[in-house]
Amino acid sequence: MTDFVWSIDDAGMGGEVLVEATRRFARFLGGRSLAATWLVVPKPGGQPLSAEWLEVLREARDAGHDLQLHGLTHADCFEFGPPAWPATAIRPAFLEEFAQRREELLPRYTVANLRAHIEEGMEIFQRELAIEPVLFRAPCGAISQAMFNALAAVGIGYHSCQYISGTGYEHLPHNSGDLTPVWTDDIPHRPYGWYADVIEAPILNEYTWRGAGMRSAEFIHLARQDVARIVTESPVAVILMHTHGIADDFEHACRLVDGVVEQVKGLGDHRFATLGELIASGALDAAATVTGPDLLTI
Ligand SMILES: [Zn+2]
Repeated sequence: MTDFVWSIDDAGMGGEVLVEATRRFARFLGGRSLAATWLVVPKPGGQPLSAEWLEVLREARDAGHDLQLHGLTHADCFEFGPPAWPATAIRPAFLEEFAQRREELLPRYTVANLRAHIEEGMEIFQRELAIEPVLFRAPCGAISQAMFNALAAVGIGYHSCQYISGTGYEHLPHNSGDLTPVWTDDIPHRPYGWYADVIEAPILNEYTWRGAGMRSAEFIHLARQDVARIVTESPVAVILMHTHGIADDFEHACRLVDGVVEQVKGLGDHRFATLGELIASGALDAAATVTGPDLLTI
C-alpha cells in the first residue's frame, strides 16, 4: 500500500494571481476530498507575508490542508546550500551564478546561521498561522550538511527535496523534449534516514512546471507511468507542484490530479495523505527502512 502526497511549493510568494490560484486549487482538491502539503515561504523576499496570503493560508489550514516550511526568504536559490539537480536542469545558469558568488555564499552554510533562519521561519509559522512545522523543504533543492544539523537542532526531523525523476523538466526549451520516464539510482526510491538522522521523503517527479500544459496528455501519461512503478517500490510517494505552475495552466493541473487519482485507484488499495499526517501517524518513520548515500560535499 502506498500513500501518495500532493506537495505544492512557493506558497506565500508572488502577487494576486498566485494567491488566487492557490485558493482555487486548494478548493479544487477539497472538492475531490484531497488535501495537499503546501510548502510556505514564511518571509518571502525578506518581507512579511501579505494579508492576502495570510488569509488564503489560514483558509487552507482550516480546510484541512497541511502547511510546512519552505526556507525563510527564498530570495535566491542558494539559501541553504549550493545548487543541485534538477534545479540546474531547469536553470543551468545557477551553476555559473554560484561559482561567481562562491566567496559570498559559502559562509552562509554554518549550523548557527542556518539554524537562525529556520527558527525565524518557525516563529512566523507559530505567530501568524498557529502551526508548529515538522517538515522542511529547502528552496530549489539546495541543501548542505549544516542544514541537516540545524534541522535536527531545532527538532525538525523530516525533509523532502531529493528527486527520483526529473523527466518533468525535459519539455523546457534547453532540454531534450523526451518525456520517457528516467529514474535516478543515486538515492533510494523510498523514504530514507539521512544526515543528522533527518528522514528524507524523496520527490517522485513534477508534471505541472510552466509549459507542461502545452503537452498535457503526455505529462499525464508520464505521471501514470511513474505512479504505476512507485507503488512497487515505496510505501510513500511525494508528487511535486508549484503555485506558479498551477497558475500557468490551471486546467492542466486539475486534469493531472484527476489522471493520477484514477491511476492510483486502479492500481489497488492506495491512499492520499499529507506529509503532516504521515509524520503524525508514524507512517513516514515506518517507511524509512533504509539509509541514504553520503552525497554532500558541503
Ligand atoms: Zn521554491
